[in-house]
Amino acid sequence: MSGRATPPLAGVVGWPIGHSKSPAIFAHWFERLGVAGRYVPLPVRAEDFPEVVRALPKAGFVGINCTIPLKEAALGLADEATDAARAIGAANMIRFAGGQIVADNTDAFGFLENLAAGAPCWHAASGPALVLGAGGAARAVLHALIGAGVTELRVANRTPERAEALAEVFGPAVAVVPWESRAEAAAGAASIVNATALGMTGQPPLEMGLDAAPATALVTDLVYAPLETPLLADARRRGMVAIDGLGMLLHQARPAFAAWFGVDPPVDGALRRACTA
Ligand code: NAP
Repeated sequence: MSGRATPPLAGVVGWPIGHSKSPAIFAHWFERLGVAGRYVPLPVRAEDFPEVVRALPKAGFVGINCTIPLKEAALGLADEATDAARAIGAANMIRFAGGQIVADNTDAFGFLENLAAGAPCWHAASGPALVLGAGGAARAVLHALIGAGVTELRVANRTPERAEALAEVFGPAVAVVPWESRAEAAAGAASIVNATALGMTGQPPLEMGLDAAPATALVTDLVYAPLETPLLADARRRGMVAIDGLGMLLHQARPAFAAWFGVDPPVDGALRRACTA
């Protein structure tokens, strides 16, 4: 026998995929931790997704991350799925194990780890949460907050039917608030979460007044481009704790790296700099 073993392969699958920060995250960890592995962006159209995924293990892949628009399809393809993936209704990570496709969703984990790192004083008993949005990211946030023990969640979404659908899935802890009343709904909230696409580069701004919010409220934005959204800047001006969405993105990648390459990798300033350079 000669030559070295091929390092395990992983990647991120989506369409388009050029914007993804995941390859930079994994490249940083490989280098820093001295782990042998490769992580590649894979642009795959929805119609080709099942065929591509089934072919990947034979090509040396140990797993993949899945992003827009393939997260729901990833769950649909799975032989097994974690409770988080089922509850959120989507998968952002697939592990190939013993010929099986095992789907997981690490967004809720990433969201909570980001809060724990940025606001160690926040805890579920701090009080109600106001969540803006009712898409896939909002589902992960609700799953995370309910799992952490938050007992009152207010959800405001432009399309009220989507918020109502979430209230049905997640139960009586979730109350739907009219989109037009989102600013008033911040009264008494211990945490305010933007889980809409508003405020992201290329999207309309998020109009969200914080006058009614307690000075002690924690404000977090899932949008990470730009890093400092107007919502976060406003919160900081008011002396509130403000946490950007990049941390969630970095923390959600940890379980995948650990599962595929055997090390729980660090999330710190060096990684943030590598991803924002
Ligand atoms: P999604 O499923 O497409 O949902 C988009 C959400 O934004 C919906 O609630 C939608 O409301 C709302 N929205 C879009 N345009 C709007 C507008 N003009 N006015 C009012 N509401 C609007 O997307 P997603 O996967 O949930 O992602 C949402 C955001 O979270 C994105 O910016 C994404 O990048 C970010 N995200 C970040 C992380 C992270 O790790 N930091 C992870 C996941 C997602 P309707 O229901 O009315 O359309």
